[in-house]
Amino acid sequence: MKTVGMIGGMSWESTVSYYQALNEGIKAELGGLHSAKICLYSVDFSEIEALQHQGKWDETAVILSKAAQSVEAGGADCLLICTNTMHKVAPQIEANITIPILHIADATAEQLLSDGVTKVGLLGTRFTMEQDFYKRRLVDKFGIEVLVPNEDDRDVIHSVIYEELCQGVVNAESRERYLDVVDRLASQGAQAVILGCTEIALLINQNHTNVPLYDTTKIHADYAVKWAIS
Ligand code: GLU
Repeated sequence: MKTVGMIGGMSWESTVSYYQALNEGIKAELGGLHSAKICLYSVDFSEIEALQHQGKWDETAVILSKAAQSVEAGGADCLLICTNTMHKVAPQIEANITIPILHIADATAEQLLSDGVTKVGLLGTRFTMEQDFYKRRLVDKFGIEVLVPNEDDRDVIHSVIYEELCQGVVNAESRERYLDVVDRLASQGAQAVILGCTEIALLINQNHTNVPLYDTTKIHADYAVKWAIS
């Protein structure tokens, strides 16, 4: 089994989900007392979040590249960046390490295409919903059409992520607001909705809606499990 490297802490609430999913995945594959070989570097999210909102992405790339180098030096064979948003600086991180990054958008796109989904809604931070680094990859590399919520809905989705989910707050009213956005995306033609932020599955899951949901945390962790035992 190969060792999975992780940069976590963005937020730690979702790193918990990753840790659990990786270990459950290895146990499901190998049985018995098997558990995942993991090398985790967990950052202080407050520093990262401040830089994100100031637009200082190059500084986040320096912090995450150092973290990635530590993970590689610690024996990891691959790297998971345990957040959708910070894949914005994946190219800079990749340039500073020799192990491969397993890209969260690639894992998600492969799952969508294998399920026959070619038109999808995307929920995530404003950065993920509005900028090109994530959407473009789905469109250009995989031919998937991506719908994002309208501006008011993007506002709600973004602020619930930072003010609630990344702080461990799960609020029933926010769940209803999220589910309304999911319905609006489906009514615009989305065959499914990507939970393109690693905390969203803490708030909504498949029991709450008939619209197929793609939880990027679970998909990314499962992808790493397959990679680790391949
Ligand atoms: N975990 C979130 C994501 O998947 C948001 C936190 C962050 O900005 O990294 O995008």
